[in-house]
Amino acid sequence: MKIIKHIQSMQRFVNELSRNGKTIGFVPTMGALHEGHLSLIDEAKKHADFVIMSIFVNPTQFDKKDDLKKYPRDFEADEKLAKSRGVDCIFYPTAEEMYPKKSWTSVSVSEITNTLCGTTRAGHFDGVVLVVAKLFNIAKPHFAVFGQKDAQQVAVIKQMVADLNFDVKIITAKIVREADGLAMSSRNLRLSKENRERALALHRGLQATKFAFENGERNVENLIDISRKIIETGQIQIDYLEIVDVESFQKIERIEKKALIAVAAFLGDVRLIDNEILDIS
Ligand code: AMP
Repeated sequence: MKIIKHIQSMQRFVNELSRNGKTIGFVPTMGALHEGHLSLIDEAKKHADFVIMSIFVNPTQFDKKDDLKKYPRDFEADEKLAKSRGVDCIFYPTAEEMYPKKSWTSVSVSEITNTLCGTTRAGHFDGVVLVVAKLFNIAKPHFAVFGQKDAQQVAVIKQMVADLNFDVKIITAKIVREADGLAMSSRNLRLSKENRERALALHRGLQATKFAFENGERNVENLIDISRKIIETGQIQIDYLEIVDVESFQKIERIEKKALIAVAAFLGDVRLIDNEILDIS
């Protein structure tokens, strides 16, 4: 497995791969890899001749300095995991390599960023979209795999790809959970034992809403209340708990077509997100 740290080396390398007719699959991550990230590699390997994973804790997408500082980093462990799962190349740049000076160009997706993480994490999606645009121009993949865990992020990236005509296919992989239902996240490592236990109420809450939905409840206020009651038993500070249209990410009052219930919540100073699709069909 190759490790490349410089942008130019990466570009030269992928140009050569493409000249040789290889299909490049790309998995962008911030490292602290877990089974969720590894499932994206498995998905990429189904379609690609060559899988590139980026590991870059992107400073521009963190709205809180402390969260950036405390973000778990362990490159040696990541390297082993990526290799064991068949990644062909890791792109592992420094922040100075990616941002030698402040970017004067911004990329911003509107409308679908008006809700959920778009409103509660100022500037977050601008940071995500900018780094993903840069990474697409560096790794030049034919397709990239993102997790449904960050549902709004995938929607925002798909929008950017469509609006700016990036020649990259976006594949969405389903959420990987711990055996007890907690959505895997690099931030789970920072949970105390007590908060790890409390966090289970997130998935339990969303599932209860999904159950009620499957049994015919369509009123959004009622569906949210079902989740909220369960989540609050975990003494969890809810950042948002909303049901939105799965495409526009706009709030709705009744579910008439495919929707998404999404939650963000703080356990101590750790912010976790989770979601469930509420599919009408
Ligand atoms: P991150 O390193 O948190 O930026 O995540 C990198 C990619 O992994 C994103 O596309 C995430 O949506 C995806 N991801 C993170 N956690 C999970 C999970 N539990 N299941 C599936 N994909 C995930």
